[in-house]
Amino acid sequence: MNHRNIVSIIESAPASDGAGVKLRRSLGRAQDLRHDPFLMLDEFFSDNPDDYLAGFPAHPHRGFETVTYMLDGHMRHEDSEGNRGDLGPGDVQWMTAARGIIHSEMPQQTEGRMRGFQLWLNLPAAEKMQPATYRDIPASEIPIVELAGVGTVRIIAGAFAHGTERTTGPVGTRTTEPVFLDLRLDPAAGVQLPLPAGHNAFLYAYEGQVSVGEDRQLLPRRVAGLLSDGDVVSLAAGPDGASLLLLAGRPLREPVVQYGPFVMNTREEIERAVLDYQRGQLVAARPA
Ligand code: MN
Repeated sequence: MNHRNIVSIIESAPASDGAGVKLRRSLGRAQDLRHDPFLMLDEFFSDNPDDYLAGFPAHPHRGFETVTYMLDGHMRHEDSEGNRGDLGPGDVQWMTAARGIIHSEMPQQTEGRMRGFQLWLNLPAAEKMQPATYRDIPASEIPIVELAGVGTVRIIAGAFAHGTERTTGPVGTRTTEPVFLDLRLDPAAGVQLPLPAGHNAFLYAYEGQVSVGEDRQLLPRRVAGLLSDGDVVSLAAGPDGASLLLLAGRPLREPVVQYGPFVMNTREEIERAVLDYQRGQLVAARPA
């Protein structure tokens, strides 16, 4: 068994996106702060409607996937492909922007708590210009494994092996083979989780604290802890328990050139994306 340990951290910092939604950005808050194939992780959480009411009016994406995971609140989305839906607590939207999509994400509440995450996951060069697809995954389709004396694991993507059993999340196969788990650990609980060797992986605690790896390094709240390679990670929750995301993916090892909501491999492809957007050609024409 080869244990993964925290090798570096990316602190989160306050940021504002869309029409002024307040959030905390860890991965992606600077161009070199990524963890291939993961480009960005935002956490939004507020009880104050002024922080989220403006929402994310229509905006484009090209070249990657956006994954929205709601913990509290409601967000309505609409896109240029004619898709629409309402994301509620525990729901996930997995959108493969690929060649291009224009969408909006607007809060469907005027008071109360809004909390969730948006993750950006890169696509390989060969898939960046394929047609956009998306999937709304209701909370009821996300398996929850109860581990006695440990807590619960929600499996959004990838597989989670426990004992002789293996539970697989609802997201289909992808080149990056993503693993996306939401772990809710009981106070002082300890657990060892298998992870695919060779995948890049990181942890993000959104409640409580957790110590990680053989050297039991403390991961504070709202900090992305990047892990060394290995096939297992051990976690120990603090005295108040811990809630954390575990993300892992097969690295693409391709050049990344980003300009706002466009993530391609070369500068020329970015210029093309901007031009396509300006000319109304970002989104593939639909057959009549
Ligand atoms: Mn978006």
